[in-house]
Amino acid sequence: MKSFAVVSGSFVSVLCVAQPVSDVCRYPALGDVMLCGRAGRAVDACIQSRVDSSWARGAMYEEAVTAFRTHWDDLRGGGGWQNEYWGKTMLCFAGAAEYTGDPSLQRWMLEKTHAFLDEFQQPNGYLSTYAKEDFLRAHPEDPDAKRHWCHNIWGRKYTFWALLELHRITGDARALEAAQKMADHLIAQLKRLGLTLDRTGAWNGISSMSILKPLLELNRLTRKPQYRKLADDIVAALSAEKSDPGALLHNAFRKDKICDWYPEPGFWAKSYEILSCFEGLAEYYRQTGNRRVWDGVNAFHRHLVAEEMNPMGAVGLFDHFLNAANHVNGMVELCDVVHWIRLNRELFSLTGEARYADMIEESFYNAFLAGVTRDGRWGAHIIRSHGTRHLFAPPQTGMTEHQCCPDNMMRTYFDWAQSLAAEHADGALLLLQYCDSSIRLSDASIAVRGGYPWSDGPVTVTLDTPRPRRLRLRVPAWSKTFSVNGIACRSKDGWYELSAPSGRSAWTLAFDLSPRIVEWTAREDALPPSPQHDNSVTDIGRYTVHFMEWYTPEMRGMCRTAGAARILRGPLVLAKGRAAGTDRDETLNATTVRGGGWRASLRRGADDPQSAGVEDVWMLTLSGPHETQKVVPVSDYASVSNIDNPSNWFSLWF
Ligand SMILES: [Zn+2]
Repeated sequence: MKSFAVVSGSFVSVLCVAQPVSDVCRYPALGDVMLCGRAGRAVDACIQSRVDSSWARGAMYEEAVTAFRTHWDDLRGGGGWQNEYWGKTMLCFAGAAEYTGDPSLQRWMLEKTHAFLDEFQQPNGYLSTYAKEDFLRAHPEDPDAKRHWCHNIWGRKYTFWALLELHRITGDARALEAAQKMADHLIAQLKRLGLTLDRTGAWNGISSMSILKPLLELNRLTRKPQYRKLADDIVAALSAEKSDPGALLHNAFRKDKICDWYPEPGFWAKSYEILSCFEGLAEYYRQTGNRRVWDGVNAFHRHLVAEEMNPMGAVGLFDHFLNAANHVNGMVELCDVVHWIRLNRELFSLTGEARYADMIEESFYNAFLAGVTRDGRWGAHIIRSHGTRHLFAPPQTGMTEHQCCPDNMMRTYFDWAQSLAAEHADGALLLLQYCDSSIRLSDASIAVRGGYPWSDGPVTVTLDTPRPRRLRLRVPAWSKTFSVNGIACRSKDGWYELSAPSGRSAWTLAFDLSPRIVEWTAREDALPPSPQHDNSVTDIGRYTVHFMEWYTPEMRGMCRTAGAARILRGPLVLAKGRAAGTDRDETLNATTVRGGGWRASLRRGADDPQSAGVEDVWMLTLSGPHETQKVVPVSDYASVSNIDNPSNWFSLWF
């Protein structure tokens, strides 16, 4: 079917005659994947705590519902975002139902959803915590209105998205009907008020325009022209040729850094919302084949890789794009990790390029796992490179059982599980990740064992297939060597292909897990702040100091002013920390092995095994110039840092 996309701004003169594009790679169904080993225990703990516990089904769920009764979001000018929590909660519950296949959870979700719709969805389709239905932008009389927050549409997006996911997983017609009513209401409301989405919400409309992703899901399900029209309008606004921070797709082609697109990047360059928009744009390309949109998504991804990679393996500084690659005081919002992984999943399925799986891998094992508490019940709002503890999500927007990031985090376990393998359009099976798992893919099944990436031993891969298949293995870019059954192999473009006859085949794989010193090229963070700057969001020094100490006063004085190096073992960022047995002075010491020809070697095991509070300890030997040498106990960064205790300490800097 041909589709005609006419997009304004830089696209206005181009009548794109494009067709939907097919994914190069298709992921397995979530229900066909089981995480085993350590990642399996982590996701099971998270589901137990946040889906199956009496707290999750009781106080947590009920508080999300209560927000629709109290209309707390209308208070104090209406900038609250309790509106997002029912949807976020249900997106996680729906993912858990799909992953576990638990029919009783499905029944519970639908019962609760139907009661929720009965009580709160108005006959015209409106469904929100905001009692003031037409409150779509704060202070519209203010010429600078886009500075002010209104989360009415942002929150509705999450309810809408959850209803679509509940329908997809359970087939429930009522959920789909309710989602359609929400979309129809939004379209009618915008028309009645003479508004477009870029003139609503917060951050120049990017919070509202992130509805693009679920809107396109509805479009795919129904093919009703009004949904495609609203999606086209969003893309037109994102592409507009104007010096507007909301014109993300236009700005993506700029040569200067993301943080230079805005007069105040610490206000405008909001990572979570921007990443959410780009996930929708990738889906827009899939459905329309619009090459200009695709080029913009790729251009923006290149900006992120060049400017915004932080030392924890995700993108952004705190919750903004502020040239994170240039800062040693690493901080990142957990939601930015969640959506960075989601964007890379989209790009992998659309291209089949191994590098996106590399980025997902580093982000999952480091930034993501660091941000989830060990019992899986809660998470960090901001994950830090070093200090005493992350900023474990404090109460927010008038709620006690919910916070933006813990409410999002479970989705990453499911996104990760679904990204372990894929089927290529050329018929090959692809194995992307090597953590212990069992996967049904096409008519085959794959089992991966070996404790990767924490263990030293080889990875065993077993394939059962009823017909001869090609199995293509991702060889991570960090692995200098790679062997199959003890024989060294050369990868091509990040892949190595095996042929398997019908029946069962098994291989042992070995990667190069020797430690790598990776110098962080950041300049030193400019501290202390210069007195002539008094705007804490544009002065990075003040920004850094403020947010390093925010809610964690014991971190006063822990900002680094010196650049440093990271040491990685496979995909794991290594770190010193109390839980690994590293003493506090050594952990937080600002001296560094950056520069000067240092070498690193590892041996497994602690000198004092009794003291270890983590599953893996290695003794790291650092040999430097002039025959200097020191030996420190280390573990992986996530394991030493996912502890919410002010008397903990950790650092990924060496
Ligand atoms: Zn968040």
